[in-house]
Amino acid sequence: MCTFVDSKKVLIMSKRYTITAALPYTNGPIHIGHLAGVYVPADIYARYLRLTGNDVAFICGSDEHGVPITIKAKKEGVTPQDIVDKYHAIIKKSFEDFGISLDNYSRTTAKTHHETASEFFTTLYNKGEFTEEVTEQLYDEEANQFLADRFVVGTCPKCGNEESYGDQCENCGTSHNATDLINPKSAITGNVPTLKQTKHWFLPLDKHEAFLREWILEGHKKDWKPNVYGQVKSWIDDGLRPRAVTRDLDWGIPVPLPEAEGKVLYVWFDAPIGYISATKEWAAREGKDWEPYWKDKNTKLVHFIGKDNIVFHCIIFPAMLKAEGSYILPDNVPANEFLNLEGNKLSTSKNWAVWLPEYLEDFPNQQDVLRYALTANAPETKDNDFTWKDFQARNNNELVAIFGNFINRVVVLTNKYYNGIIPTPSEFTQIDEETLAAVKAYPAVISSSIERFRFREASQELMNLARLGNKYLADEEPWKVIKVDETRTQTIMFVALQIASALATLSEPFLPFTSNKLKDILAVTSNAVEMSWDDISTKDTLLPAGHHIGKAELLFSKIEDETVQAQVDKLLATKKANEAANKSVEPQKEEITFNDFTKLDIRVGTVLEAEKMPKAKKLLVLKVDTGIDIRTIVSGIAENFTPEEVVGKKVTVLVNLAPRALRGVESQGMILMTETPEGKLVFVNPDDANVNNGLHIS
Ligand SMILES: [Zn+2]
Repeated sequence: MCTFVDSKKVLIMSKRYTITAALPYTNGPIHIGHLAGVYVPADIYARYLRLTGNDVAFICGSDEHGVPITIKAKKEGVTPQDIVDKYHAIIKKSFEDFGISLDNYSRTTAKTHHETASEFFTTLYNKGEFTEEVTEQLYDEEANQFLADRFVVGTCPKCGNEESYGDQCENCGTSHNATDLINPKSAITGNVPTLKQTKHWFLPLDKHEAFLREWILEGHKKDWKPNVYGQVKSWIDDGLRPRAVTRDLDWGIPVPLPEAEGKVLYVWFDAPIGYISATKEWAAREGKDWEPYWKDKNTKLVHFIGKDNIVFHCIIFPAMLKAEGSYILPDNVPANEFLNLEGNKLSTSKNWAVWLPEYLEDFPNQQDVLRYALTANAPETKDNDFTWKDFQARNNNELVAIFGNFINRVVVLTNKYYNGIIPTPSEFTQIDEETLAAVKAYPAVISSSIERFRFREASQELMNLARLGNKYLADEEPWKVIKVDETRTQTIMFVALQIASALATLSEPFLPFTSNKLKDILAVTSNAVEMSWDDISTKDTLLPAGHHIGKAELLFSKIEDETVQAQVDKLLATKKANEAANKSVEPQKEEITFNDFTKLDIRVGTVLEAEKMPKAKKLLVLKVDTGIDIRTIVSGIAENFTPEEVVGKKVTVLVNLAPRALRGVESQGMILMTETPEGKLVFVNPDDANVNNGLHIS
């Protein structure tokens, strides 16, 4: 803890913060959903705390173990290391490009991390914090491999999602054991797994339930976000069970026990320890001691994550830290909900995303526009939708028309009237006084929103300050006053320049590139004028008369309709490509003779009556006029059509199919149907009034 004295000789206590941002999984680049959900809010928070004089370690790194990486490597015929090397570099560059001001971006394949995670396991093992159990685990006989995590897919026991993974259901967020899945299937071969005995080490979460209940449900009722608190409460209320922290895999951190050969640490055991390893790596580089950042009870630990990681950061990792005994627990876990894109869920596998490297190619030097649009529309309390229209509107109507316009007018007029030298004000009017007082109130307002993790609200307050500046200029009209009252014009411009200067500092957490550019224009990076967040409230003058500013430069530029339309078109092309890829055309069947074909007696018919087969979801019982007779046909179309929809419909009927009994009703023929890739049934339809029942189809 350090203290320092600011210009007004007020003692300000500086706090120590360890801020972590979810470790991105290293099997692909990152997209706007990641940026909006985790990295931009974490960066705003870290930048704000540094600006207000706190000691900050902002930590992240690549999560490089786990099953999806080995699956991807197998598919591409490369090693898992090749995959993580490639994406680690891409992700690291994206963070740098978008101004995510991490103090360290490490990786979980780093030597420091392997050592730290092994030591952590050993400490818990020696303290008797694990239970050992030989259990039956899912095994794929053909692949000769145990199936955990993403190697197995089945029905979620909680919500019924048929594509839940072995460790977590992406639909309801529940975390479970692979053996909990209903109808499990191997993701490698598609086979139904068998059960085989294997020994694993378990973290008995049930043992930590009382502590978690007290610490979170009682201790953080007021300060944790309701979406986070609610999820945690529901898991704890459901009852916690022991979780295996080891796996039978060959990619990961070897379990540091002689009897555990061929086993590695579960990726979700090692990954959060990555925050600690990355802090160690950073501290060593900076010549600091890492331990206070993780072990001093006055340090505030804050985890920024998406909602799919809540269970790991609020239950499993704290239980690990508590079991180890020497670590602090998170002060807050401000998890966000999900961002959707143009109405659909973001998806890496379906390429439904705006990838950061591609964004920068299409919008060079416009990182702040994306940062702003994502913050102003952040999924803080519920899932939210990113649309290119909204992105354009945020840029054109707010960044260009309000923020950029105000700054541009101030700088252009100062250069025009005073050759860039800030004029000396004379007496302030009441409006001037009120305006300057309003500016002084902004740091506290924005701080309050940021400290409560309300970044949307904070970004809108920043824009309100720019609005205040715009309104002041529009009301005072210096371009008119200059013709009649030069002294008054000097005062107006002086006031406007103070607002511009406040914006340069207060925008830094949100729009770091713009803030730098603006500080250059106003020449406030020089030693003569240096400004902290608090100076805006405490100092009477931010930019002194006589200070020389630079020339005007546009901070933002208008985004045209064609530009956003091109992005929308790109997404539509992706949608089409996905649809085409889903269309799996079955191969042609074995050749038949004409004679074979003529054995089929296919006729035109009309459905006269239809009713649902009792207790059968899919079946309709139809009375069909085939031209030959009126007969009963049972058809599996009830999920697509109501009886009312098919009565009177002309259909194609295979009439000489041997009758068969379906649920006790004899079906005398078959209605010909086809099925779209989306699973929708369509009649093979002789849809013409002049086609009479009984006609042959040949
Ligand atoms: Zn589920």
